[in-house]
Amino acid sequence: MEQKKRTEISTLGEFGLINHLTDKIKLKNTSSVKGIGDDAAVVDYKDKQVLVTTDLLLEGVHFDLTYVPLKHLGYKSAIVNFSDIYAMNGQPKQMTVSLGISKRFSIEDLEEIYSGLQLACDVYGVDLVGGDTSASMTGLTISITCLGEVEKEKIVYRNGAKENDLICVSGDLGAAYMGLQLLEREKKVFSGEKVFKPAFEGKEYILERQLKPEARKDIIKELSEHHIVPTSMMDISDGLSSELLHICNQSHTGCRIYEDRIPIDYQTATMAEEFNMSLITAALNGGEDYELLFTIPLSAHDEIITIPGIRIIGHITKKDLGCYMITRDGTEIALKAQGWNSLSEE
Ligand code: ADP
Ligand code: MG
Repeated sequence: MEQKKRTEISTLGEFGLINHLTDKIKLKNTSSVKGIGDDAAVVDYKDKQVLVTTDLLLEGVHFDLTYVPLKHLGYKSAIVNFSDIYAMNGQPKQMTVSLGISKRFSIEDLEEIYSGLQLACDVYGVDLVGGDTSASMTGLTISITCLGEVEKEKIVYRNGAKENDLICVSGDLGAAYMGLQLLEREKKVFSGEKVFKPAFEGKEYILERQLKPEARKDIIKELSEHHIVPTSMMDISDGLSSELLHICNQSHTGCRIYEDRIPIDYQTATMAEEFNMSLITAALNGGEDYELLFTIPLSAHDEIITIPGIRIIGHITKKDLGCYMITRDGTEIALKAQGWNSLSEE
């Protein structure tokens, strides 16, 4: 292992540290009136509606630093918030970052986290406008709050799905979950060994999906350019099955999705086979894909199929027909909210 430079945080103190990590930040958005440096940030959204979302990430619960590089952790922490703003059909504009830091972490470690946060902000056009910093007794904590904007008539909630609407998903599903399985396996296999040489070849895609996910800004743009406003939408962070049940519950509908329509990448499939796991279970219940799940009126069918990377997987039904997946051999299986919830029992 190469020896990295290590500077104790105590050499800078709290204010010196905040300054050190944030002094190069420049504001990009006109809605960011005042950023870091006062008691509160100031934003001005004029006649737009403001979206607010927040996410708490705890070491040992939401991430494992044995295999997650700090820069990736910073990037992903920001992305999961942006994804929630896009899921409302909005645009993320500002975020605040609150950190709980234990003595284990050096200034160089925090620089890594901030380089990931900053990269995400640059790629997605978001301003880092504030935060809070505290010592922690129990490892690393990151809490991010993100603000975004959306025109009132374009907001998409979870409760607007109507009978006969088409159910769509972007990208492919289950890859982030299989990436996590792979990382966990390699961690077990090599724990205790000095030379860490994990078997990751040919598995780059699923690892990237787990370690460096992206939010689907591009899909929101495509929908807008094609004048499609979904009737309901959410991002897939806990698994398709559980998210679709949220939409159906809130919209008072049922649904039918088709197993052979669910988009799955080749690497996800080979990894599931290697692990002897059910591929469809990984695609339905694996979390952290950060793809978009949305419904559109049947009348938008001809338009939606011209957008690459979106798959129609089924349709919305009356509530009393329930929520089912039709398998390849025509069997109906009830959708379950198995999800990927860190609070649920194993
Ligand atoms: P307060 O005492 O009011 O909480 P702080 O001294 O914590 O203020 O923060 C001073 C400024 O630095 C504020 O603008 C705050 O938003 C910002 N800030 C504090 N911690 C962070 C952080 N981890 N990342 C970005 N900005 C931060
Ligand atoms: Mg503070």
